[in-house]
Amino acid sequence: MLLVQFTQLYFGWRTTLFQLASIAICYGTIVAAANSAVMILSPMEELWTFALFAIGALTYAWMLGHQGVRMRRLTHLFDKAREGEFDEPYDDGRDKFPDYITQIGRAYNELRVHLETIILTDPLSGCFNRRGFQQLSAREVSRGIRAKWRVAVLALDVDHFKRINDDFGHLTGDEAIKEVGALIRETARAGDVVARLGGEEFSILAPDTDEAGAMHLADRILAAFRSRKFHSVRGQMPITISIGVAADGAAADDVVRVLTARADEALYVAKRNGRDQAVLWFTGMRVFDPVSGRRSVEMSAVERRLSREIERLP
Ligand code: GH3
Ligand code: MG
Ligand code: MG
Repeated sequence: MLLVQFTQLYFGWRTTLFQLASIAICYGTIVAAANSAVMILSPMEELWTFALFAIGALTYAWMLGHQGVRMRRLTHLFDKAREGEFDEPYDDGRDKFPDYITQIGRAYNELRVHLETIILTDPLSGCFNRRGFQQLSAREVSRGIRAKWRVAVLALDVDHFKRINDDFGHLTGDEAIKEVGALIRETARAGDVVARLGGEEFSILAPDTDEAGAMHLADRILAAFRSRKFHSVRGQMPITISIGVAADGAAADDVVRVLTARADEALYVAKRNGRDQAVLWFTGMRVFDPVSGRRSVEMSAVERRLSREIERLP
């Protein structure tokens, strides 16, 4: 009974019926053999009786081993989920006889989509959060390294957002962030990774995109903001955005980190130059004075270190 319950629990009814049928056949065969030989078994009969049990034991051991393999596959998926990775589904097509393990696998597959959305998405704006951005951009960069793409990062920051909070209230500010996120996602291309990294700051990773393509995307976003009317209960809110843009060959895994630092530097310049514009990064740009053609400000030690780091890209 214990064996039947165990088999039913772990392998389902189909396997249990198969097991019961095997036991009945084995038992009947042994009894018939014993009766016909009046309990005296010849060496050949002993041999095949032994072979019969050996086959049974091996089948059982194989089933247990197979169960272990499937359990390990499931725990591997749960381990990956704990790290925020949900790209691999449980492949129930490999389970010949669907059972409880298959059911857990299928339930995981259904949950997977929801968990991915919850863990990798920012609930306010509907864009990816920082974790989602890191994970998806790492995936795009490894594709880019193989395909020898250029990749671009756009750093976006809403202009004078403090004023929107002050003039229209924090709740309206939240609504604005929601609308800003939706507008950036609508304007970006399907393959672009759009994320809200904090506050009213967004970032886009554009795969297979060079400097010209990235500036084209930035200009499209600026135009979309200029033509969009943002409404609130206290009237229309003027919302513009500044964008820093950087692109380079996807040569190393840290390209996104370097491009993000460069795009931030370009964003700083876009803010300094009057906002509502996109600026493409170039070497030494933060301290460059376009009028005199010379350095306009002295860099701090931290800025010097950052500059050296972001220019280090191969
Ligand atoms: P600029 O970027 O043009 O220099 O000016 P800013 O006013 O946008 O400056 P800053 O980036 O320093 O300030 C961002 C403000 O955004 C600070 C904070 O009050 C507001 N903020 C950040 N996160 C949220 C949020 O989740 N909801 C709301 N309503 N406001 C936020
Ligand atoms: Mg801002
Ligand atoms: Mg900001």
